[in-house]
Amino acid sequence: MSGRVIVVTSGKGGVGKTTATANIAVALASSGSSVAMIDMDIGLRNLDILMGLENRVVYNLVDVVEEKCKIRQALVKDKRHASLCLLPAAQTRDKTAVNADQMKKLCAELKTMFDFVLVDSPAGIESGFQNAIAGAEEAVVICTPEMSAVRDADRVIGLLEARKEEISQYRLIINRIRPAMVKNNDMMSVNDVLEILSCKLLGVVPEDEDVIISTNKGEPLAGTDNARAGQAYRNIARRLKGEEVSFLDLDSLNGNNGSWFARVVKFFNPVRV
Ligand code: ADP
Ligand code: MG
Repeated sequence: MSGRVIVVTSGKGGVGKTTATANIAVALASSGSSVAMIDMDIGLRNLDILMGLENRVVYNLVDVVEEKCKIRQALVKDKRHASLCLLPAAQTRDKTAVNADQMKKLCAELKTMFDFVLVDSPAGIESGFQNAIAGAEEAVVICTPEMSAVRDADRVIGLLEARKEEISQYRLIINRIRPAMVKNNDMMSVNDVLEILSCKLLGVVPEDEDVIISTNKGEPLAGTDNARAGQAYRNIARRLKGEEVSFLDLDSLNGNNGSWFARVVKFFNPVRV
């Protein structure tokens, strides 16, 4: 087996990388793929909590690279999807604990075991970022429709562009969009963001307070029947698998939220992904 290693990254912190990693992983696993998530945000350990797996963590990523255990011993199986696993971050170490070569080796091994390897990266474009992208062939850049996040995403895209030989493609997710604010010109639209960033769009995720509720429950929305952010992540997973999913499909899947999504769709319509 040779899986795809995809790093989930951003310039600015707190824009939704960990949330996206968990949700895309659940959506991919729900549709039959085997998925490993690597939590590279060493020192913070977020992904295990979002997945509700924090009590099952025994070994972590640093233990694996220091050969204190085997990869299989460190992988934590998801509660709901047998084909989904997490390689947790170490809580007590810093971002220098794993270097780029170790990361490459780890990803190469995981690729032989899973269809997808999703790497959740730390904030910023320092060494943590370079290590997180070291083993990846594809990247997903997350940004929010704010000038500071877009500017930082632009820097990341520049860095990814410079690594074209390793990272064959990168695509953008615009997270936390609020259509009513866009309509009132109080928020950048999808097209405003795309005009600044020359990057292919992978998806748009609306602001959805259920994201926060699901985080507290340790159950990513993509695994529930949530029709807003959850559906957006499910569509993103389908696009990653090469399906063409138009934003209009989103509309028809959202019965009660039709009018809400009709407004979203109006903004998305010019963009086909
Ligand atoms: P990062 O990993 O980039 O630091 P997180 O995934 O931890 O970001 O998200 C930061 C915060 O934003 C969290 O509190 C999360 O619940 C919230 N969040 C992320 N995406 C959304 C969304 N689409 N709607 C509402 N809240 C969101
Ligand atoms: Mg994070």
